[in-house]
Amino acid sequence: MSHILVVEDDPRIVEFLERGLTSNGHLVTVATDGRRALDEGMRDDLDLIILDLGLPEVDGLSVLRTLRGQGVTTPVLVLTARGSVDDTIVGLDAGADDYLSKPFRFDELLARVRARLRDVGNAAAGTDELRHGEVVLDLRRRVATVGGREVELSAREFSLLEAFLRRPGEAITREELLSQVWGYAHSPGSNVVDVYVGYLRRKLGDGVVDTVRGVGYRLGSA
Ligand code: CA
Repeated sequence: MSHILVVEDDPRIVEFLERGLTSNGHLVTVATDGRRALDEGMRDDLDLIILDLGLPEVDGLSVLRTLRGQGVTTPVLVLTARGSVDDTIVGLDAGADDYLSKPFRFDELLARVRARLRDVGNAAAGTDELRHGEVVLDLRRRVATVGGREVELSAREFSLLEAFLRRPGEAITREELLSQVWGYAHSPGSNVVDVYVGYLRRKLGDGVVDTVRGVGYRLGSA
């Protein structure tokens, strides 16, 4: 069971998150303003903080900067207003680990929560490897192998494959991949994701990444 601090002032969203996360086996603490978020965020038994940026008392970015300034390393997932790219960039700069723009579906949030908790689990266990079937990524050495055979990947190809391996079984949209792997250097309509998925398939085999029609891509079962 993971302990998640939800910092959000909109009661509907709080209820939605609290109900959903609790039913997925997480322990949830809620802070409805920035001042309480600062108090609760200092706790050392937290596994994750979900942080809204628009908050009363102290805004979310100030909360994030203050926590990071105090040496708090708990992963932070920031909730941003839809299309607010500035907020997202500033949030990541201020020490957020990931972001999700509102409105979001609960399964989207849960996927991000799982990914962040998995990161922490991996770090705690000292593992620096991601595996799926025959494919192994050594994150420290930045080496990819398939069935023990080393495959030379560019930095972007490696990051793209890492994004898939971190979310096995989940369909990932082009937009998510674009923002995770390329940041904001490319426009949303860019086909760079498709091009790079093509590169991965050529190097690793066709079954490594599946196309999810109308959505994006998913780590393959092969
Ligand atoms: Ca708010």
